[in-house]
Amino acid sequence: MTLPTLNKRPKNRQKIAIDIDDVLADNATGFVNFSNKTWGTTLQPEDYHEHWMELWNVDLVEAERRAIILTNASIFKNYTHDEAALPVLKRLSADYDLCIVTSRREHTRDDTLAWIHQHYEGLFNDETIHYAGIWDKGITLSGLSLTKADVIAQLDADYLIDDQLKHCEGVAQTGRKALLFGNYKWNQVDELPSGVTRVNDWAAVEEHFYGK
Ligand SMILES: [Mg+2]
Repeated sequence: MTLPTLNKRPKNRQKIAIDIDDVLADNATGFVNFSNKTWGTTLQPEDYHEHWMELWNVDLVEAERRAIILTNASIFKNYTHDEAALPVLKRLSADYDLCIVTSRREHTRDDTLAWIHQHYEGLFNDETIHYAGIWDKGITLSGLSLTKADVIAQLDADYLIDDQLKHCEGVAQTGRKALLFGNYKWNQVDELPSGVTRVNDWAAVEEHFYGK
């Protein structure tokens, strides 16, 4: 499928697309804290993964019911983040166009934008935060295999920084570079796919682009 390319620009300035959850925001921690409090689960942040039915051991209807409760509770608004990200992003923004590509549902737009403005002021705006649309129609098993590759191609981004291996792999398959962010339990793999490089933290991101 050929998709139109948006945001045509001179190629002397490359574009980096960045994920929010567990890259810019401590999603796993916020998610399991809310889950434990609300549904009496005993999850640790390292238990987190995207397959919520499996994570909670519930059926699709119950997972979707909980997903709606989570988003309606605006849990994203209280997410913590790594202070080390901001100076690295500021440095990158001088040399690259930065944007965000998230698989959060689009109706979280207001909470997401407010949180991004609060913690990453001046780096992103409503026009540079893109929603991949993977979960907008609710939780589906097929959604688990969808990736951000098409959105990244539409944006003509040169890089994706994301903690989910499937998005990195999908993007790398289109000939773009993918940085697998974080050394998380849910993104372990014996051998990284071609075109995917692991960056453990924000210092590693900076080193990737600028060297030591
Ligand atoms: Mg993520």
